Amino acid sequence: MNPPLLEAVAARVRDVPDWPKPGIVFKDLTPVLADPLLFHGVVSALAARVATLDITEVVGIEARGFILGGALAATLRRGFVPVRKPGKLPRKAHREAYGLEYGADSLELHTDALVRNAQVLVVDDLLATGGTALATEKLIRRCGGVVVGFVFLVELEYLGGAERLGADRVVSLLKYPRP
Ligand code: AMP
Repeated sequence: MNPPLLEAVAARVRDVPDWPKPGIVFKDLTPVLADPLLFHGVVSALAARVATLDITEVVGIEARGFILGGALAATLRRGFVPVRKPGKLPRKAHREAYGLEYGADSLELHTDALVRNAQVLVVDDLLATGGTALATEKLIRRCGGVVVGFVFLVELEYLGGAERLGADRVVSLLKYPRP
């Protein structure tokens, strides 16, 4: 992404202190998504960064990963597969528990969601500790797929998520050092 556009994206990220819990600074990306130039710019930049990867489908993580993941899948001309919060998928699904920067939860993936030997790109809005993305990788492996890359708009570098996922598999546009 060209530097002025990246700066414009950074300028539209809103820090919300103590939300959803005291001590968490929530990165609100809705102003970036609401700006047509920035939304398109972010999706195009992420698509360019993964252009050399052999991807059979894009997996987006509920809920904010659906927004970028859906747009990215359409741009890459790949199918989109949702990883959802518990109880949302209508058919047989695998479930994985995970820890969050601010709590714990579970994620699910339909057992038949992926093509044979799927090469998956995982998309979410933000990388913090990496627990959400790691749980998603476990689900993908249980469905017979492999993760070829993880894509995020924002990375909170100081929480070590990229190291947990394998830094060479992680693409992020905006990296934040310790506040
Ligand atoms: P983690 O599993 O710790 O990498 O957390 C990443 C997930 O939690 C993503 O789905 C994010 O949307 C959300 N998240 C964690 N921390 C924040 C934060 N400071 N601001 C916004 N979203 C966050």
